[in-house]
Amino acid sequence: MREISTAESHDLAVVGTGVIGALTAYYACRREPGLRILLVSHGSRGHGATALSAGFDTPTGRDAAQRELALRSTTLFAKLAGELPGLPRRDLPVHWIVARSGATALDATLADGSRTTPVDADRHQALSRVFPGLRVGGDQVLLSTAPMAVGGPRALADLLLDQVLDRPGNTLAEGFRVTGIRRDGRRLELVGADGSVLTAFRTVVAPGPWALEGPVADAAQARGARVKKVVAFHVLTPPPPGAPALVFEDEDAFLLPDEAGGRWILSITSPDWDRGPDGPLAIGPHDRALALALLDRHVPGFVPHLTGGRVFSDCFTPGHLPIVDTTDVPGVVMAIGGSGSGYRLAPALAEQALTLLYGRTTAP
Ligand SMILES: Cc1cc2nc3c(=O)[nH]c(=O)nc-3n(C[C@H](O)[C@H](O)[C@H](O)COP(=O)(O)OP(=O)(O)OC[C@H]3O[C@@H](n4cnc5c(N)ncnc54)[C@H](O)[C@@H]3O)c2cc1C
Repeated sequence: MREISTAESHDLAVVGTGVIGALTAYYACRREPGLRILLVSHGSRGHGATALSAGFDTPTGRDAAQRELALRSTTLFAKLAGELPGLPRRDLPVHWIVARSGATALDATLADGSRTTPVDADRHQALSRVFPGLRVGGDQVLLSTAPMAVGGPRALADLLLDQVLDRPGNTLAEGFRVTGIRRDGRRLELVGADGSVLTAFRTVVAPGPWALEGPVADAAQARGARVKKVVAFHVLTPPPPGAPALVFEDEDAFLLPDEAGGRWILSITSPDWDRGPDGPLAIGPHDRALALALLDRHVPGFVPHLTGGRVFSDCFTPGHLPIVDTTDVPGVVMAIGGSGSGYRLAPALAEQALTLLYGRTTAP
């Protein structure tokens, strides 16, 4: 016979302690400080895409909906910085290499309506010292935007979870894999893989790349969600203080300075679809070939320093537009499809999830 937890039901369960789950729980506490929150992770609380995320935040969007999420997240990140001293996040200059014919389209992606500006010869020369051998193709241009941001997604999630768990009545259940959620009268039962049950009155499921196998698997599949490998290489040479990021817009890739780590992070777009987070995930020779070709084209001086990196999986939704929606079970909302941008869009996604559950009461 299955075991039923005798513990009192929590008001809100948040399945997932990545950046989206952590923000959801934090905002829920802010809206209603007395709310009793149950955090659930099938691994340790730091396990997931967030732990390996590069944390680059370009407030851009492929379409109006994504731009709205980006803009709202920028506002919410600024609020968070005011509330939480030591928020792991800083501004950095950003430059872009893009096809001359794509410059207008790039402008259109900027969520705040700002525009790119051409990089002049002096700045180009200065950038060549930071990005050794910097090459811009004959049909390409080198552009600047206003500063953007880089954060520490894992440190952010930790900071937020600490805040939530410091409050009496809030609990973290680690190592509890939710296989299904069903309604029993007013309560929701979160059924664990071992048959045990946790209960809450409402639930947000933010499962990251596990979206296709947990309690919202059917809903995620029905909405066209898939999983894909995400790869970020390390370039083992220290960036100078204040170094900018360089985005290769046409290749969907970027170089990000990791000053604390004494290296650069080179994020590329892996073509490896349907790679879940529990499968064997490794940086393969074809990933390296892609990264080397990119560096060879644009920053050949970095080629000898390309060594190792980080690899995980993320959930991608059609149009790379995350989905925050209700599910078939009343009182259960899912927030899925970080689509390689789940850190930078997380505040708006968390806010939307709570608005769906509780209505637009007080802003986070
Ligand atoms: C290498 C890499 C680089 C990236 N770089 C960037 C970047 O520069 N900028 C950016 O914006 N985004 C980036 N991303 C994407 C971003 O990190 C993710 O979209 C985001 O972290 C997803 O957060 P999440 O909270 O949804 O999921 P996760 O962080 O994966 O957390 C999922 C949580 O759900 C829990 N869970 C899942 N299923 C269950 C279940 N059935 N029962 C109980 N618990 C469950 C897990 O235990 C975990 O706690 C990157 C991703 C990777 C992998």
